[in-house]
Amino acid sequence: MARQGKDSHCSFCGTPKNETLMLIEGLDAYICDKCVNQANVLLAQELGNKKGKAFDETFKLLKPAEIKEHLDQYVIGQYDAKKVLSVAVYNHYKRLSQKIDKDEVEIEKSNIMLVGETGTGKTLLAKTIAKILHVPFCIVDATVLTEAGYVGEDVESILTRLLQAADYDVASAERGIVYIDEVDKVARKSDNPSITRDVSGEGVQQALLKILEGTIVNVPPQGGRKHPDQKMIAVNTNNILFICGGAFDGIERKIANRLRTQAVGYKVKKDEVELDLKNLYQYITPQDLKSFGLIPELIGRVPVLTHLEPLDKEALRNILTEPKNSLIKQYVKLFNYENVSLKFDKEVLEFIVDKAMEYKLGARGLRSICESIMLDAMFETPSDKDVKELEITLDYAKEKFEKSDFKKLKAA
Ligand code: ADP
Repeated sequence: MARQGKDSHCSFCGTPKNETLMLIEGLDAYICDKCVNQANVLLAQELGNKKGKAFDETFKLLKPAEIKEHLDQYVIGQYDAKKVLSVAVYNHYKRLSQKIDKDEVEIEKSNIMLVGETGTGKTLLAKTIAKILHVPFCIVDATVLTEAGYVGEDVESILTRLLQAADYDVASAERGIVYIDEVDKVARKSDNPSITRDVSGEGVQQALLKILEGTIVNVPPQGGRKHPDQKMIAVNTNNILFICGGAFDGIERKIANRLRTQAVGYKVKKDEVELDLKNLYQYITPQDLKSFGLIPELIGRVPVLTHLEPLDKEALRNILTEPKNSLIKQYVKLFNYENVSLKFDKEVLEFIVDKAMEYKLGARGLRSICESIMLDAMFETPSDKDVKELEITLDYAKEKFEKSDFKKLKAA
C-alpha cells in the first residue's frame, strides 16, 4: 500500500495532493477526484456504446393510440396536443428503430412545439412521454441560455443535462428527449437591427439551430466553461427529440390580426366559420411564431406545432382527482401511511377550484391551496394515535385557508 504524505500526487495526472479535493490511495498508486470523474465518463461512454446496440432489439414501440392512453392517465384534457404528440413521438421512434438503406426515403425528425398558457400541462406532457418511453429526459430553461462567449449558459449545456440524465450513457442520451421550456423568451426583441447584439434572443435561436437539426456536438461532460481542460464528449443530436414549449404571451393578438385580414381578403360572409375568441391558440400557425419573433430557420426545425387549451373549472376539478397520481390521491395515500382514512367533502374540491380560479393560479395553484388546507392536519395527525378517520369539510377547509398566508399564495 502506498503511504500518503504531503508530497503524494495523483499517479495519473500528477496533481499534488494539496491541489486535489481527494486523493485515493491504491496498492502502489494514487488517483485524484478529477481523474476518477474522467474515468467514470470514459467508462459510461464505452459501456453505453455496447448498451446502445442492445437497445434496437429491446425497444418496444407503442402505437400512437397506446401512447395517448398512457398520457390520459396523467394529463387531463388537451386532446389535440396529446394526439399530435403521440403521432410525432411514434414516428420519431419508428424512424429510430428502422435501419435505413441508402436509397430509401428518409423520415425527417419531428421536433415538437407546444404553445399554451403557463400551467396548462406542457411540461407534464413532455415528462409523461419520457416516462412512457423509458428514455433519458431533461428540462432546460431557454431563458438561461446565451450566445457562446456571453454571460449565461451555452446551448451545449442542454446536452450536458441530457448526458447527466442518462448517467453519461451516450448511446442512450442520443435517443433521449429534451424539453426546452420558455422558448418564447428567446424571441427576437425587435425587427430592427440594433447596435447591441441580441445575445439572449436571436443569438440563442441561431445557436439552437445547430443542435436541433441533428449534428455532432462536443459537449463538456460537467457543463459550464470553467473547465477548459475537461475531455469533451461527442454527442450526435440526430435522434434526440426536442420538445419546445412556451406561453407566447400576446401571440393571440397576432393570431387575431392574421385571422381578421384573412377574413377580409378571402372569406364570403356566409362561409365564415365562427371563431372561438376565448381560445385563439387553437388557430396558431408557424406564421404567427414568426411574427412573434422566432426566426424561420428555427420554426422549420420544429415542424410539429400544437396548442394547449386554457384550463376551465371542470378541467381543474378533474386535475384534482382524476390523474393516476392526482393531488387528492396523494394526500389520501400520505394519511394511509399513518393508518388514517382521509376523505374530502365534494364542496371542498369545488372550494379549492374556485380559489385557484379567483387567484388566477391555474393548475399550479391547486397544490398550494391544498397545502394550506392540509398543513395542520399533516402536522398533528402523526402524533395522535387515536385518529383513524379524517374528513375534510367545507368549514374546516375555509377556516384553514383563511388562516393561511395569502400573499405567499398569490406569489406562487
Ligand atoms: P406548463 O409547463 O404548461 O407551464 P406544467 O406542465 O408545469 O405547466 O403544469 C404545472 C402543474 O399543473 C403540473 O405539475 C400538474 O400538476 C398540473 N397540471 C397542469 N395541467 C395539467 C393537466 N392538463 N392535467 C393534469 N395536471 C395538470
